[in-house]
Amino acid sequence: MTHPFDPTTLPRAVVTGGAGFVGSSLCERLLADGWRVLALDNLCTGRRANVAHLLADPRFELRVADVCDPMTVDGPVAAVLQFASPASPFDYLALPVETLRTGAIGTLNALELAKAKGARFLLASTSEIYGDPLRHPQTEDYLGNVSCTGPRSVYDEAKRYAEAATMAYQRTHGVDTRIIRIFNTYGPRMKPRDGRVVTAFVVQSLLQEPLTVFGDGRQTRSFCDVDDLVEGIVRVLARGDHMPYNLGNPSEFTIAELVSEVEKLLGPQQVTYLPLPQDDPTRRCPDISRARRDLDWQPTVALAQGLVRTIDGLRQTLAAAQ
Ligand code: NAD
Ligand code: UDP
Repeated sequence: MTHPFDPTTLPRAVVTGGAGFVGSSLCERLLADGWRVLALDNLCTGRRANVAHLLADPRFELRVADVCDPMTVDGPVAAVLQFASPASPFDYLALPVETLRTGAIGTLNALELAKAKGARFLLASTSEIYGDPLRHPQTEDYLGNVSCTGPRSVYDEAKRYAEAATMAYQRTHGVDTRIIRIFNTYGPRMKPRDGRVVTAFVVQSLLQEPLTVFGDGRQTRSFCDVDDLVEGIVRVLARGDHMPYNLGNPSEFTIAELVSEVEKLLGPQQVTYLPLPQDDPTRRCPDISRARRDLDWQPTVALAQGLVRTIDGLRQTLAAAQ
């Protein structure tokens, strides 16, 4: 005899920042893997639309709440994934104190929830904890070159604090923790005006505006497709240990090369050169040997391929907004 489907018997994950760009893809993947998911988000930079397609699923719930307020969640929780934080420079420079509070108080609240529930905890940290790195590519043992007073420090230092808090809960309270350091990730669900370079260039091109290159365009970034990232996240959650993992694509591009990649797909572009923002990192590229060795993980989506999907997604978002 078959029993009626009872979603309450499935393991449950709390994803803070679950209505954001990465968080919403993570919620989707956890549901596909058989989890129940509570997405907790104050929608300060995320969008309800990112998870609208999940709301009909009885295993999914969106709760609009601030992680800086204590989190009360009824019933068992097997995993807490702390993804809440403004993430694009445009957003965190507009929300500096909120970013600091979310990285500090929000992370402590998420850790408290994990401790109370005996849940596994995963922190979404960032390559920004390396600042403007003096070692290249960046390995997890590199301690970074970070300004603690510059405008970007609100994000970088909040994430450094969040990592310290995560390690302290692991050492002191025995919480089963994970830390991932995410390098620049892109994908179809990014907000059209989030100011990040991939979104900026694609949206500018679609709207026939000049592409805004900051500085001389020789600074580098390594761009990871969001599906590759999410695969890395679930592997760290399932099989990782408590020391940090770099998750990113080790193919490094100058910003000028990114312009060329966009031109290959969308045709020749006009470019406007604007001043380089203060403390903008000169080079950034992950060494992912640890994730390769421990988790058998590496990105599989090339930039040219991922950009096609991203262009389609942003084109649809722009059309829906008209
Ligand atoms: P995003 O802005 O799309 O998502 C962040 C989500 O957190 C949003 O939905 C926002 O509303 C929510 N949020 C922010 N403050 C909150 C608070 N106080 N309470 C509840 N919800 C709150 O950004 P993203 O790119 O999806 O980033 C997700 C996470 O991954 C962030 O923690 C970010 O620091 C980290 N990360 C992302 C990248 C990347 O390239 N996308 C790189 C490094 C690290
Ligand atoms: N950038 C740019 N034009 C833009 C937005 C960003 O040239 O319109 C540059 C920015 O100065 C940085 C790189 O692209 O060197 C990546 O910027 P992004 O904001 O995407 O991410 P982050 O600085 O956090 O790596």
